[in-house]
Amino acid sequence: MKSAELKKQNEEFIQKIKAQDPSYFDELKKGQTPEYFLLSCSDSRVSPSVIMQMPLGHMFVHRNIANQVVEEDESFSASLYYAILHLNVKKLVVKGHTGCGGVKAAWEGNEEPELQKWLAYIRRGLPEKTGGGEPTLDELSKLNVLSQVERLQQHPVYRQYGKGVEISGCIFHVETGELEQIYPT
Ligand SMILES: [Zn+2]
Repeated sequence: MKSAELKKQNEEFIQKIKAQDPSYFDELKKGQTPEYFLLSCSDSRVSPSVIMQMPLGHMFVHRNIANQVVEEDESFSASLYYAILHLNVKKLVVKGHTGCGGVKAAWEGNEEPELQKWLAYIRRGLPEKTGGGEPTLDELSKLNVLSQVERLQQHPVYRQYGKGVEISGCIFHVETGELEQIYPT
């Protein structure tokens, strides 16, 4: 996609919205009061607000490869803190997806040096390889989400400030478009 194409897409977006509601952006500039904090994989096929048809202003989103909760990640901690303390979100959602390339790379032992630190974080949420009866990639993606839900529950920011804020985990099925909740069940 060339930058001219991005510009054109944006102009169409503005026209469509203004045709429905001429004062839309005047309202939007007043501020945000999102109900959800979303942690999603960066995969280009799984954009949270697109797959859930959420209008602007409803979701505060943090994305990284394989939707990881990493305590040492200052960017994630700051997003979580801001969402809970300043935006008063009511729900935290960890959203993984089938066919996750990050989970696959971690499981299959990718050796590219630039990826190793991040893949080590992903591996912490996956089972040990036993050499027989291995889980499928999609089962691993689910285990990854459940592991990140657990990490989120243990995250210092959540423990200190997250009282009453619900956590859930879900999987987006890229092959059907379905969003399946896997925590709580
Ligand atoms: Zn992914």
